[in-house]
Amino acid sequence: MNSVSFPQNLLTPIKNFFHLEEKKLTQRKRELEEQDPFNDTKRVADNASIDTDAAEQFGHATVEGLKKELDRKPIQIRKALTMIRIGKYGTCEKCGKMIDTDRLMIFPEATVCVECEKKKERK
Ligand SMILES: [Zn+2]
Repeated sequence: MNSVSFPQNLLTPIKNFFHLEEKKLTQRKRELEEQDPFNDTKRVADNASIDTDAAEQFGHATVEGLKKELDRKPIQIRKALTMIRIGKYGTCEKCGKMIDTDRLMIFPEATVCVECEKKKERK
């Protein structure tokens, strides 16, 4: 038996949580795309005042940031689901060490440990 494997009885609730999250993220993304002022077909560029333009730029930037997050997270979730499937959930994909359970409580989709995450951020 591998001593670093994640408790099996916890995997099912985690899996269910991920599937729910995926659904929510897809829904949220669709909502955001509808909110993006740049997607507004009624918008007439030439008539827009500077103020409106700035507000739209800001709105667009916010939406873009959120969209990036909404693009990244499902990938992360799918990765974590793969880790569950291959029985590696809870271990760091970089160094193979057990990921801190406190970290997994906050970021259940984490596939790297704190140390490797820090190394990644320093890049
Ligand atoms: Zn690691």
